Amino acid sequence: MYNSDELRLFSQKANLGLCSHAYIVDGDSGIGKLDFALECARALLCTEQKKPCGYCNACRKALSGEHPDIFVIGREKAAGIADVRELIRRSFLKPNDSDRQIFIVNNAGKLREDSQNALLKLFEEPPESVTIFLLTESRASLLPTVLSRGQRIHLDGLRDHELAEKLRERFPGIRDNELSQALDISGGNLGSALRYLSKENSAARAKAEKLLFYALSKQSYEVSAALLLPKYKREQLTAILVELILLLNEMQKKRYGVSGTIPPESEELKEIVGGASKRAIAKMSEAAFNCMSALDGNANVTAAASKLAIELCSAATR
Ligand SMILES: [Zn+2]
Repeated sequence: MYNSDELRLFSQKANLGLCSHAYIVDGDSGIGKLDFALECARALLCTEQKKPCGYCNACRKALSGEHPDIFVIGREKAAGIADVRELIRRSFLKPNDSDRQIFIVNNAGKLREDSQNALLKLFEEPPESVTIFLLTESRASLLPTVLSRGQRIHLDGLRDHELAEKLRERFPGIRDNELSQALDISGGNLGSALRYLSKENSAARAKAEKLLFYALSKQSYEVSAALLLPKYKREQLTAILVELILLLNEMQKKRYGVSGTIPPESEELKEIVGGASKRAIAKMSEAAFNCMSALDGNANVTAAASKLAIELCSAATR
């Protein structure tokens, strides 16, 4: 994830109407270049004074990915010449909804030379209503002629304190030495910090996912067995509860349309989570929280686990 400096700068310029028409955004893999460009698009299309406001029609459409004047190529697979031609064709059309069209070329560094050359003309002299963002991991993969035409925005990783904050949200029980190790290893990249830390947490995470799968697929015997048979120690059950709560939290966020949520890892769970109601998710979180505070309050572990099993199963049917 990128730190917010560049975005703040871009929004300031958008508010003053000082934006250029062609940008090259570079930064490491996984840093969020596409998210950044979409945020910029929002700042450009927003109809309110303080851009992006987040609630005007344009902002809302852009947030839901449905703004007709934002066109992204190279999102799933690298863009080819046909995608570039389509983009160029569109650039001559009038915007649908606003006075601008935003074109975003994801993975522009993977464009073949002929595609880059085709794009060059548009990049050199975009129509007044067009703003283009080329996103790339490395500027070296773009032709010098392309490079010379765009304004550069370089995205840096999160500052250590920003990253630490994100990691504490994700791993509430994290110890200071683990945190500083993750910060060292990640170089400001949230993705690699998460990967590093979740290896440590992966056993508890897998158990939480399994538990949720059993509960949602109404296998109440399996829920009890998963919670009681291993005879967990207090801290083991607590670690599973932490993961369970985070997992439910992410599910709830997704249900409310928040983007960037972390999906479950297990395929079987992924298939059925969509069927859970908001109410069921909320009830299951409540059950997990109750169990956690019982454990904090020195309750008997077996008793707390069996109460959790019953509550999870009844919550899942809501
Ligand atoms: Zn707005």
